[in-house]
Amino acid sequence: MRLALLGKPGAGKGTQGVRLARHFGVPLISTGELLRHRAYTDGAAAGELAELLARGELVPDDLVVSVVNESLAASGAGGYVIDGFPRTLSQARHAAAPTLDAVVHLAVPDDVALSRVAERAGAGRADDARRDATARRLRSFHDDTEPVLELYRRRGILTTVDGTQPPEQVTEAILQALPVPRASG
Ligand code: AMP
Repeated sequence: MRLALLGKPGAGKGTQGVRLARHFGVPLISTGELLRHRAYTDGAAAGELAELLARGELVPDDLVVSVVNESLAASGAGGYVIDGFPRTLSQARHAAAPTLDAVVHLAVPDDVALSRVAERAGAGRADDARRDATARRLRSFHDDTEPVLELYRRRGILTTVDGTQPPEQVTEAILQALPVPRASG
């Protein structure tokens, strides 16, 4: 199972990514987590990356693609759940993206996204704590990621799920909607 999870900030990608990766017994690749980690550890380039993340701007495609490639190489052949990729049409043309089996859109209205991010703002992420950054992330979802959803809708592999439900129900709705046999247990 090669599954991508997309949604606005606060849509529940992180929570559902963990649950789905556990369900299918595959690695979870979160581009946001990987980039935040790199922003702490990447020597000279780290400050610049941290600043981009804190402002809520998209990280350049070539860096994201190289981070994804490294993780895919380490993830083995059994599939993966990828959270937050591809977020742009150019990323969707990357070699890993055409091999996706399913793309799940966790749909929440803008006001729900904004209030969820505001609620978790104290939890340590610089971008969650900045209102301008949240607005930028939301705008980038509309401008850059909605065309990606449309691409996968036309390809017939997009599943849209109501992300305002409690997490267990969201997971259940995703598993019901996916066009693949459900794993037992
Ligand atoms: P997330 O953890 O998915 O909310 O992502 C946090 C931040 O990481 C985003 O606001 C972007 O700055 C960056 N990011 C994550 N995934 C991508 C991606 N696929 N393309 C560009 N930037 C990304």
